Amino acid sequence: MQPFSYERPESAAQAVNAASRRVRDGTTPPSSPVQFIAGGTNMTDYMKLGVMQPERLIDINRMQDAGLNKIMVSDQGIRFGALVRMAQAEEHPAIKSQYPIIAESLQLAASGQIRNMASLSGNILQRTRCEYFREITWPCNKRRPGSGCSAMEGFNRQHAILGGSDECIATYHGDFAQSLIALDATVEIVGPKGPRNLPFSELHRQPGKTPEIETVLAPDDLIVAIHVPALPWAKRSHYLKIRDRQSYAFALASAAVALDLDGDTVRDARIALGGVATVPWRSREAEETLKNRTLDEAAAQEAAAAAFADAQPLKHNAFKVELGRRTLIRALFETRDMKV
Ligand code: SF4
Repeated sequence: MQPFSYERPESAAQAVNAASRRVRDGTTPPSSPVQFIAGGTNMTDYMKLGVMQPERLIDINRMQDAGLNKIMVSDQGIRFGALVRMAQAEEHPAIKSQYPIIAESLQLAASGQIRNMASLSGNILQRTRCEYFREITWPCNKRRPGSGCSAMEGFNRQHAILGGSDECIATYHGDFAQSLIALDATVEIVGPKGPRNLPFSELHRQPGKTPEIETVLAPDDLIVAIHVPALPWAKRSHYLKIRDRQSYAFALASAAVALDLDGDTVRDARIALGGVATVPWRSREAEETLKNRTLDEAAAQEAAAAAFADAQPLKHNAFKVELGRRTLIRALFETRDMKV
């Protein structure tokens, strides 16, 4: 691990000022000389592997701004402070009863020890587990832009079939993010020009020609909260995760579904997919297919077909197309049949 400096600001404004001193451009490449750190479960991992080598770490755990460690539930929805730990959120009674998809997506992620430590804001910004990204001897456009993508011709069983490019096909491996998309969440950001809000679905960037840039955040933008509105269908929401083993494994395919039903008829739907795409993937095509229809076998099959119509499987991950479809169909029926 290369030497780095370490500081602990006492407010979000101080943290942003500290980061702004070293900002060189408007991007967040892996070599960015300054990084925020909270739980550190992803960052320290990649620093030890040599994948990320920040010169300065800004530890945000001592920030005193109001609500950073709190979950606030109101008639308008939920506000999660950026430093709320995953376990703290998954165990919250109001979240379990009013927003089950959030509790489910958190409980199915990582291990209990990691969830005790990892912050929600860090979780949504976690980086890919592409094996070639993690092993620094391999060419990787995301880690070293322009070096090539070892996964294209390599072992790509875990890789994305949606949202990839010629430069990168790395999967976004999180779970919580899919539930946030299904619930129309927004993120509250503090930057050098002050605070702003952003729809969560616009936070992550597909790789395109610049896979090293994973979000629309500048290096001195700090997420301070996540807002989830009190949608009428939040209670009828569900996260289904399919993986190689039932614990401590990333999704091969997952589906986050929220349904607004009138009897068996879908008034509105939110569908997000995980384990199959380069970013937390909202499937508007599947949502549109379901609107104003009875949610039966035919409708679910059509929605699943629409969701994966643009899939681009590779040598080792073609199975994800069928697995992804079946995962979505099962999630739709399990959500429809929830007792709310
Ligand atoms: Fe790197 Fe992306 Fe290729 Fe993986 S898929 S080797 S992260 S460029």
